[in-house]
Amino acid sequence: MILLTVVGLCTSALLADAYDAQPKLVVVLVFDQFRGDYLDRYRADFKAKNGFNLFLKQGAHFTDCYYDYANLVTAAGHSTIGTGAYTDGHQIPLNEWYEPGPDGKLRQVSSVADDRYKLVGAPAGTKDLTGASAHREMATTLGDELVLATGGRARVYGVSMKDRAAILTSGHATKGAFWIDHDTGTWLTSTYWMTQLPGWAAEFNASGRAEMARKESAVGEGGFYEKVGKSAASVSYQLDFAKALIVGEKLGQNPYGVTDMITISVSSTDINGHAFGPDDPSQRELIVQSDVLLDAFFTFLDKTIGLKNVMVAMTGDHGVATSQKAGDAMGMPVLDFPPKQFTQPLEAMLEAKYPLKGKDAYVLQMDNPYLLLNRQAFEAAGIAEEEAENTTKAMVEQIFAAFGNASDGAIGGREREPAAVTHIYTSKEMRDGRLPETQYGRLVAHSYSPNVGWALHINFGPYQFPWNGSGTTHFSANSYDRHVPLELFGAAFVPGTYHGVVAPVDIAATFASLLRINRPSAAVGRVLTEAMRSEGAGSSWAPGAPLHKTSVK
Ligand SMILES: [Zn+2]
Repeated sequence: MILLTVVGLCTSALLADAYDAQPKLVVVLVFDQFRGDYLDRYRADFKAKNGFNLFLKQGAHFTDCYYDYANLVTAAGHSTIGTGAYTDGHQIPLNEWYEPGPDGKLRQVSSVADDRYKLVGAPAGTKDLTGASAHREMATTLGDELVLATGGRARVYGVSMKDRAAILTSGHATKGAFWIDHDTGTWLTSTYWMTQLPGWAAEFNASGRAEMARKESAVGEGGFYEKVGKSAASVSYQLDFAKALIVGEKLGQNPYGVTDMITISVSSTDINGHAFGPDDPSQRELIVQSDVLLDAFFTFLDKTIGLKNVMVAMTGDHGVATSQKAGDAMGMPVLDFPPKQFTQPLEAMLEAKYPLKGKDAYVLQMDNPYLLLNRQAFEAAGIAEEEAENTTKAMVEQIFAAFGNASDGAIGGREREPAAVTHIYTSKEMRDGRLPETQYGRLVAHSYSPNVGWALHINFGPYQFPWNGSGTTHFSANSYDRHVPLELFGAAFVPGTYHGVVAPVDIAATFASLLRINRPSAAVGRVLTEAMRSEGAGSSWAPGAPLHKTSVK
């Protein structure tokens, strides 16, 4: 054992300057609500060497990356990127859902809330100190498998303004996940990881950096997430925190010589995108500004760790629909409609058929793409799941059929198309596998988790979405919601543009293969061999010594 260690040390000392066996750092970079067409659409605007051009010019750029499921929401997307599995694997269907609370009554829970832990670093006066963890994510992540393969020596961290994006992408065996307090921008974690913030994180919070971001984006007090979050100031705020983490924890300089990993999810594109839509000049400006900020971030990595020692994957957690306003301007029938337009008549119809026993309602809420039903209210009325869901499904179809006779107004001489349901399935149908053997059936099968409870999965017409207010959203089985970038950078990849259809689940599969570790527990992705250098003699890319060698003690 001693001899092996000495040999190992000599080898790593000799090769310290070359690409040494394995990447020193894996970076999984997510832009929230970043549609797959953006990088090519704005390509001419990217001037920096190490911004998006790190992928477009120096990396492998995949033009046709589509999620193969039909619940395109943030928590599910980030879990899919981390685990290489869909909702039927990782069990995260939505950002929030309903579970019985301690009193037995249904309560809404977030995908990462965990009563057993408390928030760490929350500003004084924070009312809800409920902690968070990845305990509802029922699959391991790439980061988890890296930690396991190195006997706990690899250090894995997650960072995002959103808790679910920081936690679900990085996973369970992580050393830390950090996100912000929405009101103040203060960085937080949970006692799942630690009882106090690391010195570097406390310093970052005390440095006045949040106030600087407010000044940069010219907004006043409060509402940091909504106000600053729309601007490029919040992109640099997140990347600067990630830099502080990399410096503070010496990521990429692992004392055992194994690979470290960080997942970074930039929320800003989602916050601005919901407010103004993908075609608004502000979204283009935010992306172009992000290019410059990414250049600074990757140049920093080059100086500290060396880009030759870093492997990066970049993707998005979902795309987005064109807004109604932009659709109007382009002559494309786009329709947003308030969900209560159908949930209110639906509730009335249900209550007329099944008189309520108690104060609850039958419809909990439309949480796109799921219409969530109140199992407890139906059970109190003596109605079983199959009847409850089938009756509700028939009523929803009846309500939307009636919309077909009503005009939603005209724009530019064209009638707006009425809201239409194209596909609708009950929880029981999904659970029993009673779905058609079509692409759509497969997408829905990949979207189901028992966590949705009694529910209906609903897809609407193209560019039709239940939504309150202006702006737009994402969730559907339609291509524009499923299309995201897939970009790879690093010594193992052959630079170029690839037009084959790939999926975000391929990231975990590809990196697990390169690192010579097990795939995450529920991974279904494909190794992207078309973009990988051949290994061995005569190749500029040498496969690494297996990770376990460096962990012999
Ligand atoms: Zn998102």
